[in-house]
Amino acid sequence: MKLYESQAREILHKYNINFPKGEAAASVDEAAKIYSQLGTKRSVIKAQVLAGGRGKGGGVKIVETLEEAKAFAAKLIGSRLITAQTGEKGTPVNKVLVAEAIDIKSELYLAISIDRSTSKITIISSTDGGTEIEEVSAKTPHKISKEQINPLLGVLNFQARQIAQNLNLTGSLATKGSSLIKNLFKIFIENDCSLLEINPLVLTPNDEIVVLDIKIDIDDNALFRQKDSLETQEPSDVSSAESMASAAGLSYIGLDGNIGCLVNGAGLAMATMDIIKLYGGSPANFLDVGGDAPVERVTTAFEIIFTDPHVAGVLVNIFGGIMKCDIVAEGIIHAIKKVDIKVPLVVRLEGTNVEIARKMLDDSKLNIIFADSMKDASEKIIKAVNEN
Ligand code: GDP
Ligand code: MG
Repeated sequence: MKLYESQAREILHKYNINFPKGEAAASVDEAAKIYSQLGTKRSVIKAQVLAGGRGKGGGVKIVETLEEAKAFAAKLIGSRLITAQTGEKGTPVNKVLVAEAIDIKSELYLAISIDRSTSKITIISSTDGGTEIEEVSAKTPHKISKEQINPLLGVLNFQARQIAQNLNLTGSLATKGSSLIKNLFKIFIENDCSLLEINPLVLTPNDEIVVLDIKIDIDDNALFRQKDSLETQEPSDVSSAESMASAAGLSYIGLDGNIGCLVNGAGLAMATMDIIKLYGGSPANFLDVGGDAPVERVTTAFEIIFTDPHVAGVLVNIFGGIMKCDIVAEGIIHAIKKVDIKVPLVVRLEGTNVEIARKMLDDSKLNIIFADSMKDASEKIIKAVNEN
């Protein structure tokens, strides 16, 4: 789960880390009040969205007067911000952060993430902050340093000093930098982060180190013990299909294609998407109903699939191992009656109680195309969608 910058700043506050004073506002009046309370004149207003690249996308501006602050807040709040990370539809801006503007001497990059290739927590640092790190990585990879951290030992002194040195921090700044790095690692572990990225980390003309922008992702599998972060999430933060799915205990990821997929098990769901592609089709989603999908969950799964207007056909691919096929059949019959499915539906069931399930679906007289292998199923759904 991604946190807003304003939420991530609350975490920084708990750990006594230096970041610009300011607060989030949901209206122009609130933004004006915060601006006046800051009393710094030069302030920065930033769109609070769960995507980076806001600066380049027009979502960050330094303002010098109350009028300017109000005008920019009014422009952002209620609009959609398009950045390199949002796609062309953009993402809605419900809040802005109004913060004191910081004088910048240099912009650095510092991030902690999990490196899948080494299975280790890695601290990534670069003196080229402010710009997109992907760009630095592509053009000047030698400017990026990585330090592997043993999760049991944490950041050792020499590693913290090494990272500070990579960031060109010397003297008292090196000491400040080292303790910041250790503190950030503590945040990473204690908050079950999968990513903590500071871009830029700023050096001021008075030799202060300030976290100017922070991005935190929390590992979804640890959310049960990160209740504080979960409570501050707003319902609009995730697409309605995704929030419906997570409330129902389903894994759903929307994609660009037109064949809705309802599958049990993440592996089978991936294989189903692959085979649809292989035969020339395009999946509209990844949807894993889980190992033991009761009738209500299968019905919800259909409802979620049809929140996507591009769905022109649905492929149900179930292997009844833990889950019994007759339960899925009951779910399909219930869902078709409730959801009123108007597009072709191909069903491939295999495993426990498959005969009972087939008979139930046959007897229901519903408009179902049966398939008996993955290949057969994908060919049938692609043909049906193309003919429809
Ligand atoms: P992002 O584009 O989504 O990463 O948003 P950031 O918060 O990182 O802001 C983008 C850029 O705006 C930063 O890299 C800075 O160059 C600039 N910026 C943001 N806040 C300030 C500030 O307080 N003072 C100054 N001088 N520049 C700022
Ligand atoms: Mg940034």
